Amino acid sequence: MPDFLPALTGCFARPVAENPTVVLMEAAFRHHGLHFRYINMDVAPEDFADAVRGAKAQGYVGFNCSLPHKVAVIDHLDGLAESARLIGAVNCAVKRNGKWIGENTDGKGFLDSLTPVISPAGQHVVIFGAGGAARAIAVELALAGAARITLVNRNEERGASLAAHLGEQTACAAGFTPWRGDFTLPASAGIIVNATSVGLFPNVDERVAVAAGTLRPSMVVADVIPNPPRTRFLKEAAAAGCRTLDGLGMLVNQGAKNIEYWTGAVADKSVMRRALEDVFSAV
Ligand code: NDP
Repeated sequence: MPDFLPALTGCFARPVAENPTVVLMEAAFRHHGLHFRYINMDVAPEDFADAVRGAKAQGYVGFNCSLPHKVAVIDHLDGLAESARLIGAVNCAVKRNGKWIGENTDGKGFLDSLTPVISPAGQHVVIFGAGGAARAIAVELALAGAARITLVNRNEERGASLAAHLGEQTACAAGFTPWRGDFTLPASAGIIVNATSVGLFPNVDERVAVAAGTLRPSMVVADVIPNPPRTRFLKEAAAAGCRTLDGLGMLVNQGAKNIEYWTGAVADKSVMRRALEDVFSAV
């Protein structure tokens, strides 16, 4: 007969649609026989502080949070990892030695996809977008030694402010160009990243506006969009002879990084990727 600890055992109602991140994480736990569970709860901003207190009280070893909680969560943590501090947002909270530390695994997931293909050190990178994903990726690339980052964004204030932040806080030279019409990619750029939501399902025909003929075979082109993995932009890049990286890889990598932080285990990414592909192919 097991000893029963005092517990709060709950029942809650929610829509049955599968959450891709839950599928991703639970596939790894199952595959490796790890005795952890990953559950997803919708939390309104006004309830967020209570939800974090609840997670801490219920013995969580960590949690992810999505927009708009990525900034609000900082007030509830004991400290921040360097990149999370520079990004100004946390998507992964980790309990380390009794302290709650904020990490940002979005940019790290991107970097783990990129580095087997090309080292960012010394590269000129063009990033489309200046939202949360662009910010995380730009900071990680700057910390990894990118020589220059050109941000291209519709909203000028957001783009200029991210470029100024990178210039002030990192050793990387950062500039901003407003995105008006088709952007002419400079021949000096070795890495191009779509970090906008352009092309995300169901808007799969939406176009990342780059000038014809400026995608070159020397470029590595990455897209953050996980669904569909093969976006219109990546198809155009592949047709131009570029090497391409999809957003599914980034999502799998950030999930694997979360698992490493929370459990110490190194997850099999191919198992996680297959689980996600099954979800997205069923959409
Ligand atoms: P944000 O809302 O913070 O930023 C959205 C960005 O997309 C802004 O730069 C916005 O430009 C730009 N944008 C949106 N629509 C258009 C358009 N029609 N034309 C030009 N630019 C546009 O979102 P996030 O940065 O958090 O997320 C962006 C994408 O990244 C999402 O699709 C998300 O799924 C994906 N993502 C993928 C991850 C992965 O692991 N693969 C992880 C995190 C995010 P503006 O400022 O001008 O409005």
